[in-house]
Amino acid sequence: MNILKQPVTTLTGIGAQTASRLEKLGIRHLQDLLFHLPNRYEDRTRIYPIGSLIAGMTVLVCGKVEFTDVLPRGRKSLICKISDDTGSISLKFFHFTANQHNVLKPGTWLSVFAEVRYGFAGLEMVHPEYKVIANPDVVTTESRLTPVYPLTEGLSQAVIRKAVKQVLQFCSHDAKLLVDWVPETILRHHRYPTLADAIQTLHAPEESVSIEALQDGSVPALKRLAFEELLAHHLSLCTIKNKARAWQAPVFHSAIPETGHFLRSLPFKLTGAQLRVIAEIEADCQKPQPMMRLVQGDVGSGKTIVAAYTALLALVAGYQVAVMAPTELLAEQHLRNFSVWFAGFETNVVLLTGQLKGNQRKQTLEALADGSAGIIIGTHALFQERVQFHRLGLIVIDEQHRFGVHQRLALREKSQHTGFRPHQLVMTATPIPRTLAMLQYADLDISIIDELPPGRKPIVTSVIPGERRADVIDRINGWVGKKRQVYWVCTLIEESEVLQCQAAEKTAEFLTQALPDVRVALIHGRMKTAEKDAVMQAFKNHQIDLLVATTVIEVGVDVPNAGLMIIENPERLGLSQLHQLRGRVGRGEGDSYCLLLYQAPLSDPARQRLGILRDSNDGFVIAEKDLQLRGAGDVMGTRQTGQMQFKIADLSRDAELLDAIAQLSDTFFTESPHAIQPLCERWLGAATNYAEV
Ligand code: ADP
Ligand code: MG
Repeated sequence: MNILKQPVTTLTGIGAQTASRLEKLGIRHLQDLLFHLPNRYEDRTRIYPIGSLIAGMTVLVCGKVEFTDVLPRGRKSLICKISDDTGSISLKFFHFTANQHNVLKPGTWLSVFAEVRYGFAGLEMVHPEYKVIANPDVVTTESRLTPVYPLTEGLSQAVIRKAVKQVLQFCSHDAKLLVDWVPETILRHHRYPTLADAIQTLHAPEESVSIEALQDGSVPALKRLAFEELLAHHLSLCTIKNKARAWQAPVFHSAIPETGHFLRSLPFKLTGAQLRVIAEIEADCQKPQPMMRLVQGDVGSGKTIVAAYTALLALVAGYQVAVMAPTELLAEQHLRNFSVWFAGFETNVVLLTGQLKGNQRKQTLEALADGSAGIIIGTHALFQERVQFHRLGLIVIDEQHRFGVHQRLALREKSQHTGFRPHQLVMTATPIPRTLAMLQYADLDISIIDELPPGRKPIVTSVIPGERRADVIDRINGWVGKKRQVYWVCTLIEESEVLQCQAAEKTAEFLTQALPDVRVALIHGRMKTAEKDAVMQAFKNHQIDLLVATTVIEVGVDVPNAGLMIIENPERLGLSQLHQLRGRVGRGEGDSYCLLLYQAPLSDPARQRLGILRDSNDGFVIAEKDLQLRGAGDVMGTRQTGQMQFKIADLSRDAELLDAIAQLSDTFFTESPHAIQPLCERWLGAATNYAEV
């Protein structure tokens, strides 16, 4: 067995207790230690002249004690002044012993390591590491930078440094231990070091390596590891895609009379982009392998009808369809829409959410199991339990960006159907740049709806300070007078749903009083399904003029007559989320407006970001600009990346590597298929399991 796969307890100095502490850092095997990189370094490789120090440096100096004194002023402290030929500096100790006082007597030489700060009397070092030395000529400096590792409670730098050192030694004795799976041509092309060299450099950098470059991630050694890590993630997703090709899926033949009937019954004609995407989907579903297609289209581009069309293909072929939405509100809306669209077809559309209880739930589950329900719409509760389908042939996941990669993959597993795998259609409105898409969606084929239905006028967006709230409220009166409807979105305190709902309640009360002629209603995530449903239905029927809402309406909600949206505290939300929210208006034929009512003062970056939203209605442009301003990591966010986490790579720093990775991963499958498994194991560890989905 490769020694690197042995448990850390095989190292000298690591017992069960230390091992359990290391485990908290994800370190179990020797190999894991190698990939547990320092988060910073200390430079003990040279002695700085004291006269050259400036505050902020962390350095090694050598000096002779001038005097040592206890200062009673303020907090009792021990001050020791040392100097060399170039200058002097004070060492300060708040905790000290009488013995220490004795040791630090005038004339003694010290080597001292600490950060330099400004103190009362010039530069000082607080609680430095120090050693008494015989004379300044015999100080031994280190030949390499000192790594400082991320720790966990009870673990010391000394212990982990010693452990890593041992593993590094094994590696330098046996070059074959650390297999380099990245082809040499690639290494040469990027001027990357070998894996062994990179690891060596990062754990024990030679003094010539710049600390700044190590810390900002620009050293080739780090880039090379980030490259390999991202490659491993990409390969694992591609593996899933390839494996899926081997599964059997039901074939949906084209259903000419039915689809024709369906399209003719719609109150509009599909756009060219919708028709193109539908053709791509039809081609997929006619193959006996499961479709795994992502439909990307800006808010309002009409993705739902594309899903409904696909559902029809499944129904005609005799299969059931499951549609998953991220919120109950959206699930309920889909239920209404699908019920209308499929009214002329003999099928049952049913809803299954976490809120459905008792007898109703039992009946719904029975209808799924015996096949009398053709289309089932639900939240993720739909897949969380053991729901039995009669013949599930298609899964639609709407607003996929709300679910993480792993969640999506897990669903696929849960939806297993004996003998067959269902086709899968995934929809998202969150455009992410192509390079990022390949990490997020490498297991999917992508279709893009790049055209909005005709007649849409751009939403006019204004950025307005909170002091002008009264004007804004006035504007609602005028708008409602024109028989149009309004959303007022309270974004306050996104982390706490309870507080958000309370804020929305207050706002609704206030607006009801301020606008006596306007019919105001409230909707938020903590209301019962039936209540929410009633409010949404009333808003849709124009029995309500002004809907005060939390961000629950962010996704999907579709009421074309509502053309004015006020978003309070937009500075708290990300651009993509704001763009999504704003997408609730601009769906009808009239003008539409979005007022971003911010709380002054606005920071410069916040002003800039709201400006982007004001100036563009294009989700892709907004995402690109957001990316430039915030970096990829933030744009993808935890909400979007799900549990995709990297040890070393940082997408805001390393995104430029992705193009090369995409190219390389293709050749990997033909030229070094044997390397894929070990690479994925090295970087994804236990998470590799999802490749088995
Ligand atoms: P999204 O892509 O954001 O999910 P929806 O599917 O909710 O968008 O569609 C937005 C609105 O546009 C809906 O009212 C829908 O009925 C309507 N719509 C969809 N396609 C067309 C079209 N081709 N022409 C006109 N209206 C359309
Ligand atoms: Mg939608």
